[in-house]
Amino acid sequence: MNKINRIGVFTSGGDAPGMNAAIRAVVRAGIYYNKEIVGIYRGYEGMIEGDFEEMDVRSVANILQRGGTMLKSARSKEFRTPEGRKKAFEQLKKSNIDALIGIGGDGSFTGMHHLYLEHGMPYICIPGTIDNDIPGTDYTIGYDTATNTAVEAIDKIRDTALSHNRLFFIEVMGRDSGYIAISSGIAGGAVSIIIPEEETSIDELVEKLNKGGKKNKTSSLVIVAEGGKSGSAMEIAEKVKEKSSYFDTKVTILGHLQRGGTPTYFDRLLASKMGVAAIEGLDQGKTDAMVGIRHHDIIFNKFDDIMNQPKDIHKDDLRIAKILSI
Ligand code: ATP
Repeated sequence: MNKINRIGVFTSGGDAPGMNAAIRAVVRAGIYYNKEIVGIYRGYEGMIEGDFEEMDVRSVANILQRGGTMLKSARSKEFRTPEGRKKAFEQLKKSNIDALIGIGGDGSFTGMHHLYLEHGMPYICIPGTIDNDIPGTDYTIGYDTATNTAVEAIDKIRDTALSHNRLFFIEVMGRDSGYIAISSGIAGGAVSIIIPEEETSIDELVEKLNKGGKKNKTSSLVIVAEGGKSGSAMEIAEKVKEKSSYFDTKVTILGHLQRGGTPTYFDRLLASKMGVAAIEGLDQGKTDAMVGIRHHDIIFNKFDDIMNQPKDIHKDDLRIAKILSI
């Protein structure tokens, strides 16, 4: 592989708190290793349009503590086509960019993989998504902050649930992944956690809630991941109401507030480590890979080694949730 001198950095897919910390780490580590760094705005949309800007140490001052992404993010239909990717590659060549570091979820990773296969553009992906649903890493950037935000909201809802003896269904993000639901459910003391990876029986849920009611449990919180097979929080609440008139039931959908806010120390540290590792990885000739973290150590995973396997939920966490919600 030719020596890499000029690297494009971009964020793609859903924004996640800590993406800014990752951009900062890429820019500063790149400059430390005498690379030129180019910021690509609006993910693959901006790549196709050539929406680029030279970055220096000062371009990333004061962003470490901010949520969102200073480079903006986007979803691009055009990039999903070979023609769109050709346009993007031509823009990259025009700006003499010889490698990419993309921060995003599995879709963004797949996009970089295609660009690599079709045009030989070296790249490293940094996993940035609140869903924590990418195999090959214990944690993705943004997951810790989003979970903390969910827990804070759950605590507040518990206050009102207790005051009015209510049953609350709280919907958290996680289209295909129950990570936020399980972690925030355990940390927030949920009576039940409904996730996309598992079937939930409404009858069993009602039975469990009734049992709690008989034991003088005056309020209950059920955490529902948005992409569950049993339906949305609203639908599940309706089904529960049909089967039992015992509860005064309310639904809260946390929605996009889980994406925003100041990243936790954990996400800033993770993003900083991954950003430096991505630059060092490219410099050592690594490509078609994603940086990950395993037991606190940085690792690199080739696309083909991890992207064909699902990221399993921690079954033991579910077991713990069940023990603690008796
Ligand atoms: P998150 O899941 O956190 O939102 P993501 O990176 O998985 O992040 P996606 O919307 O799935 O988000 O992907 C981001 C962009 O990556 C898409 O808009 C598209 O441009 C590109 N992309 C996704 N999948 C592919 C694919 N199979 N081939 C080419 N490009 C893709």
